Amino acid sequence: MLFEDLSLSKSIQKAVFELGYTEPTPIQEQAIPIVLAGRDMIGCAQTGTGKTAAFAIPIIHQLHRIVGSTKKAKQIRALVVTPTRELAVQIGQNFDEYGKYTNLTQLTIFGGVSQVSQVDQLRKGVDILIATPGRLLDLNKQGYIDLDHLHVLVLDEADQMLDMGFVNDVKKIVKLTPNNRQTLLFSATMPIAIRELAEMFLKDPATVTV
Ligand code: AMP
Repeated sequence: MLFEDLSLSKSIQKAVFELGYTEPTPIQEQAIPIVLAGRDMIGCAQTGTGKTAAFAIPIIHQLHRIVGSTKKAKQIRALVVTPTRELAVQIGQNFDEYGKYTNLTQLTIFGGVSQVSQVDQLRKGVDILIATPGRLLDLNKQGYIDLDHLHVLVLDEADQMLDMGFVNDVKKIVKLTPNNRQTLLFSATMPIAIRELAEMFLKDPATVTV
């Protein structure tokens, strides 16, 4: 299969082509059509499998269609929650690369640094937010983050978030989002706690394992 076969918008195909990607990886081949169809999904995949693009590419495609070139107000329409600053930065870079030829805006926020520039950018409005749990809840509590218009929520590295003690934070975050959102959960392992989390927050999910 080639990226061309996935019916992605030209602007994404161009960005992906320029990165030298020719074929989607197995997780991408399976996940992209599911995400484009609007279904909830559990992705059982490790880092290195191309799992970031498996959610970032179809999210950019969908938001690009919704937001397009209109002057619609910027609202957070996609949220990626990930356990560490390093992962957040990496995911942010990937969204930047794949969305290079769209006019979607995105922001990566994490703790351990001043919130000033993060708040400045949130005030200007972003379409896509990538965040670690603590800073996300902190800025939400301060009134800088509104998740009422969210279309899609990604819980990335869910097993690591649980191991790091973020389970209550993750539950609080999900409760801040609309019920009709699309939810994607990625985890390298599927212990019972992750399956319970999925049962609680995902609706009739498709499961992809690589
Ligand atoms: P990830 O598993 O998301 O951390 O991705 C691992 C690496 O694979 C990243 O450096 C991506 O840029 C790269 N990558 C993702 N998808 C593809 C693809 N379809 N073809 C070639 N490289 C890719």
